[in-house]
Amino acid sequence: MSHGSHEMNGHHVPTYLEVMAYQATREPWSENIKYGRYTLYFCAATIALFSLLYAFNTALFWSRMRRGSASFPLKSKIFALARLSTYPRLPYGVAHAVNYLWAVGPLGPNILLFLGLLYASLYCWANPYLFRPPFYGSPPVGLRSEWISVALIPFVFVLGSKRNVISWLTGVSHDKLQVFHQGVAFIVVYMAVVHGVTEIAQSLMERPFSETYALSGIWWTGFAALGPLLWLWIGSLPFVRKRLYEGFYVLHIIASILFVGFLYVHGFDILDTNAYMNATLALFGFGIGARIVMMIVTNAFFSHKAQISIHGDLVRATIPTKMNWAPGTHVFLRFLHIRPLESHPFTILSIPSAEKNTTNEMVIIIQAVNGFTRVLAEVAATAPPERKFPVILDGPYGHGGKNTLRAYETVLLFAGGTGVTFVAPLLEDLTRAMHDKDGVCTNVELVWAVKTHDTVKLFESELVKMKNDATLVGGTVTIRVFVTGGSGDVEKALDSPSSDKMSTDGGESSDSTPFIWATGRPDIRSIIAEKGKTCTGHVGVAVCGPLGVMTDAANAVSAVQMDILRGGASCAEMYLRSESFGW
Ligand SMILES: Cc1cc2nc3c(=O)[nH]c(=O)nc-3n(C[C@H](O)[C@H](O)[C@H](O)COP(=O)(O)OP(=O)(O)OC[C@H]3O[C@@H](n4cnc5c(N)ncnc54)[C@H](O)[C@@H]3O)c2cc1C
Repeated sequence: MSHGSHEMNGHHVPTYLEVMAYQATREPWSENIKYGRYTLYFCAATIALFSLLYAFNTALFWSRMRRGSASFPLKSKIFALARLSTYPRLPYGVAHAVNYLWAVGPLGPNILLFLGLLYASLYCWANPYLFRPPFYGSPPVGLRSEWISVALIPFVFVLGSKRNVISWLTGVSHDKLQVFHQGVAFIVVYMAVVHGVTEIAQSLMERPFSETYALSGIWWTGFAALGPLLWLWIGSLPFVRKRLYEGFYVLHIIASILFVGFLYVHGFDILDTNAYMNATLALFGFGIGARIVMMIVTNAFFSHKAQISIHGDLVRATIPTKMNWAPGTHVFLRFLHIRPLESHPFTILSIPSAEKNTTNEMVIIIQAVNGFTRVLAEVAATAPPERKFPVILDGPYGHGGKNTLRAYETVLLFAGGTGVTFVAPLLEDLTRAMHDKDGVCTNVELVWAVKTHDTVKLFESELVKMKNDATLVGGTVTIRVFVTGGSGDVEKALDSPSSDKMSTDGGESSDSTPFIWATGRPDIRSIIAEKGKTCTGHVGVAVCGPLGVMTDAANAVSAVQMDILRGGASCAEMYLRSESFGW
């Protein structure tokens, strides 16, 4: 800022006092911190709202578990409306295309992120006072975007951590928060670019940029921070991330460190900047610290060893452990002798023993895909069956606490391929709940699409036991297996909506196993629609599988919400819980 009044490039260069006098009534530089602070309040209020919803849902769950659930039409309709604004997914073809750029998922998170984007855009651009006259200071739009961007950085880091405060407050696990990590990060990039571009535009009104650049080190630190930030965004786009996951992960961490480091220097001691940067480091550091402590507690005292066996392209890993976990949760596995630098998430197929203080058997089914999983399958194919492999467990992560499906009288479970590792433990837990009379569920139907009969063999004895256990205590478990066949894998066979392919269902039959067998793909939409019209009370649905399966289930459950609103459904409520093996 100039301290003497003179002319430059045809513009009057004001004195410091003139600049202060001019800015006093026009968004003074120092008062722009309010844009960061209100952004902080916006995010804090959103988290507070979801924390309250979490507390409300938990209270509702326990009241249903204790007293069963009374339904009255208004309550059902309010729930249906809330679910209708959360569950729907884009049609398969559109979602498949959009997924190259944005892991689009269900409507709810997208609405929330859109509101965030709208908030940031309006707050930044709605006031038409965007630039100042030459030499009268930074452009207001550049300052607004700067503070909005900086205030969001702590949230981006927390949302990307496995153990984090937002998960604890809202009950939403790290894998479901990934979409917010990516979405909020996009707003940070957008605002940072607006900040950089408008600052340059303002400076060009005054003098050539090379001269401005030479005046202050703040420019190069700004560019040095913006470079890694742009890489963080581009490198995280699904078409890059999904193809080169390991490379993406390493570069993501390096770029994050560079970004925070340069940004710290860029804004050091300027108004609120230190507070945001310190909060970022403290919250992120806390998350990493909590994760390391939990890993030490979990692994140091009980060193874990896995026995692995191969079944077609599936590896079964069995790990005795004192650890406890909720059904449907996942752990990250790091095999010390097989690609030790990598750790990968897998859903735990088994559930812990009902007895306390006993050793649990953690069973994990791993599909050989590419890198780590392919190498693991090769090792499993050649290693002697009794060999035990040291493994580090990081977790469990996911929806902790009691299985929410226990509060629904009828439960429908849909799985495509290895997605059964998510729904089978939910089923086992429900049969245990029926036995313990802990919950209201009495009727479960599992619909599972597999490529071949062989896949089922790996799970058969456990599933038969669950079915028999339920029957013994007066419950009903129906297991329908759809064999899709074909040379492609089941993920591909199912990865389109059911209407895209003619069902090859050759009718259902019950052979020697207590399963109902069918060929072709299950018509998920019809099954759900039919349950909405025939079941009474509360229906819970859980789904895990490829995009086509998730889309069909989510949109069919959404259609039932419409029926509930119109008074055309026989069930009082239909709840959906879904899991996708990726983010
Ligand atoms: C919550 C969750 C639960 C899962 N449960 C199971 C399961 O029970 N059984 C099963 O077979 N598979 C499961 N998966 C998928 C499994 O993690 C990937 O197939 C595996 O990591 C692939 O690694 P790769 O090196 O063999 O293949 P790559 O070719 O390196 O990766 C294939 C795909 O897997 C994803 N991926 C790779 N590494 C990771 C990682 N460290 N974290 C997150 N995603 C990654 C990438 O998006 C990539 O597109 C689960 C994934 C998630 C996110």
